[in-house]
Amino acid sequence: MRKLASIQKIKDIQPIVGADMIEKATVLGWQLVVKKGEFQVGDACIYCEIDSILPEEPAFEFLRPRHFRIKTVKLRGQISQGIAFPLTIIENHEQMSLAEGTDVTELIGVTKYEPPISINMKGQVKGSFPGFIPKTDETRIQSVPDILTNPDNQGKQCYITEKVDGTSATYYLNEDDFGVCSRNLDLLETEKNVHWMAARQADIETKLRSVGRNIAIQGEIIGPGVQGNKYKLPQHKLLVFNVVEIDDYRYLNYADFVSLIDQIGLETVPILTDDYCLGQDDVNGLVALSTAKSVVNSKTHREGIVIRPLIEAQDSELGRLSFKVINPKFLLKFE
Ligand code: ATP
Ligand code: MN
Repeated sequence: MRKLASIQKIKDIQPIVGADMIEKATVLGWQLVVKKGEFQVGDACIYCEIDSILPEEPAFEFLRPRHFRIKTVKLRGQISQGIAFPLTIIENHEQMSLAEGTDVTELIGVTKYEPPISINMKGQVKGSFPGFIPKTDETRIQSVPDILTNPDNQGKQCYITEKVDGTSATYYLNEDDFGVCSRNLDLLETEKNVHWMAARQADIETKLRSVGRNIAIQGEIIGPGVQGNKYKLPQHKLLVFNVVEIDDYRYLNYADFVSLIDQIGLETVPILTDDYCLGQDDVNGLVALSTAKSVVNSKTHREGIVIRPLIEAQDSELGRLSFKVINPKFLLKFE
């Protein structure tokens, strides 16, 4: 669960060239525009991330025209992600223990914006998501910037893949049972569900059986009817980003993942590099790195990148060491 609203510190304030009324603040790894003079470096604030929907209350009335939703915006040439509020918007805040990092999402009544999804992406429920496979998810680096300076992670050799904007799919072969799952559910085979259409089209069942052991693959389906088909593909395509060794409940390392996907005749998400040293860029450097066109279709913005070590590793904050960096140009255009 994302901490959409939390107590954070203003880490930095910088002027915005040509603007007298506003300035740029840094909170966690995020950059946002604030009213000039409203905060000083070191002040505590309530920070609400993009995708927050604020409750309909007087303090948030100014967001009504935006349906109370916080999006990525550009002001005076400055990208701004999230909003900082003074602690005074919480009644009796003096009587509470509001240490840095405290999650106040529920206290404030913030909910998450979820984009609408079509019926063919939802599918029909067969059961809950299997417990023997982890669900797919990635954390934004701006929410966990300390990952980059943690000595346990620094210097780790990583690979970077393109994050593609489709729908998450998990395919498994477990004890002779072939299954097809969306992000959160095991799905019944139906004619029009995109997860099953992609499975039949690439004959994923036969490919998984050829591996000869319990195995799951996880990827993103892009193409017609999925997230507006930004890549303008004529048919569905599965781009794989995980292989799970079910019996050991572990992900394959990079080299084994790539060679298994190649061996069974599938495609991975685009691999941008396999020679990236973690810690060589700060958050802003990574955002710059994420900002480019897609390898799948160079006419559209890349959604972002995902960074992982070549050898799977755990992080104290994240669990699996793996994170995403979303391209702000993509967010400005599509969010
Ligand atoms: P958030 O948690 O930020 O609110 P979200 O949970 O809806 O958003 P996404 O922004 O879709 O998640 O990011 C995570 C998803 O990205 C994964 O579940 C996976 O399906 C998808 N994905 C696409 N490309 C990749 C990739 N190259 N590597 C890993 N995951 C990827
Ligand atoms: Mn998520």
